[in-house]
Amino acid sequence: MPAALSKVRELLAALVGFDTTSAKSNLALIDFVEDYLRSHRIGSIRIPSADGQKADLLATIGGSGDGGIGLSGHSDCVPVEGQRWTSDPFTLTLRDGKLYGRGSCDMKGFIACVLASAPLFKARALKEPVHIIISYDEEVGCTGVRPLIARLGKDLPRPRAIIVGEPTSMAVIDAHKRIDAYRTVVHGREAHSSLPALGVNAISAAAALVGELDRIGAHIAKTQNDARFEPPYSTVSVGTIKGGTAGNIVPKLCEFQWQVRSLPSAAPAEAPRDLTAFAEKTLLPRMKRVTEEAAIEIISENSVPAFVAGKGSEAVTLALKLTGATETSAVSYTTEAGLFEHAGCPAVICGPGDIAQAHAADEYVSIDQLEACMALLARLAKELSA
Ligand SMILES: [Zn+2]
Repeated sequence: MPAALSKVRELLAALVGFDTTSAKSNLALIDFVEDYLRSHRIGSIRIPSADGQKADLLATIGGSGDGGIGLSGHSDCVPVEGQRWTSDPFTLTLRDGKLYGRGSCDMKGFIACVLASAPLFKARALKEPVHIIISYDEEVGCTGVRPLIARLGKDLPRPRAIIVGEPTSMAVIDAHKRIDAYRTVVHGREAHSSLPALGVNAISAAAALVGELDRIGAHIAKTQNDARFEPPYSTVSVGTIKGGTAGNIVPKLCEFQWQVRSLPSAAPAEAPRDLTAFAEKTLLPRMKRVTEEAAIEIISENSVPAFVAGKGSEAVTLALKLTGATETSAVSYTTEAGLFEHAGCPAVICGPGDIAQAHAADEYVSIDQLEACMALLARLAKELSA
C-alpha cells in the first residue's frame, strides 16, 4: 500500500473508532481532528451545538477570507442496532481490498482522504485557500451544518465552491431530491374493547391516513416524471407508527412519521395538503360524531432543500475537471449540498464509496475508491497552486 494510502487507512481507522452515531456526541472525533491539524500547523474553528455536546469544525489552509474551495463531510453516522455485522463496526477491518466499519463509506472515508491530504495542501503555496468543513447531525435532517452555513461570508470564510464528499463512487452529482418529514398524531377516545362504538379508535384512523398516503403517493408517481432521478417522481413513505396501550382498550392515541422525497421541480406541499383534506373532510367528521376531542395533527418536523447546481456552476466545473468525468448525474438521497447552494456557495457532490453500502450492515469503502479520492485531492492541490 503506498504511503499516502496507509495514512488514509490509519486516519480512517481512528475516525471509525469514534462512535459518532447521530444521537451521541462527536466531540472526541473533533478533538482528534483538531489535534491532527494542529500537528500540521493548521488552525481550526469549532462551531458548537446549542447544548455543547457536538460541534462543527472549519479549518482553512493557505490564506484566509472568502474564496477558495470547501471540502465538506459529516462526522455522524447511522446506528448499528439491529444490524448483523461480520466484524466490530467501530474497528476498521480490511478484507479483500475493502475497509469495513460504520461510517467508512458514509462518509469518514472522504474525511480521512481530506485529512491525509492536508499536509500536501499546507506544503503547496496555494493561490487560494482550501477549507475543511466537518459537520454533525447530517443523518437526522442536515441540522448540524446549518449554524455554520449561516456564518459563511460573515465571520467565517465563504468558499467559492464546495465539494460535498458523500459516497457517489466519485461520480459528479449536480442535483438531488428534497425531504419533508412529518409526524401525524391522531387523538381518539379510549373505551372498553367490548364497547368500541363508545370510543374513537386512533389506530384505525391512523391506518386510514396511512392508506390515504399510499393513494397520494401512487397519484404523484403517475403525474410526475423526471428521468434524471431514480425513481423519476416524488415518493411518499411511512417510517414509524406507534399507538395503543393494551389489546382490550380502544386506543386514544396513535402517531406515525412519514416523509416526502420530492423532485426539485415538484410542489413539495402536495402530499400534506391532500392528507389534510382527507383528514378534515372524510375522517374527522366521523370521529367527531363520538367526541369533540377527536383530532388529527399533521406536524412538519424537518425539511432539507433539494439541490440543483446553478447553470455553469463553478463547483460542477471544478469536479468535472478534477475527475475527468464528462457528464453529471442526479440522485434521490439528500445531502448538505442543497443547503450550501441555497446559501450562495455553489456545491457539487463527489466522494468515495458506493451509496449502496451506506447505512447497511458490513458498510465498507474499497481501497480503490480511497485511491481515486486521493488522486482527486492531489489534482486539486495542483490546480490551486500558484
Ligand atoms: Zn452521508
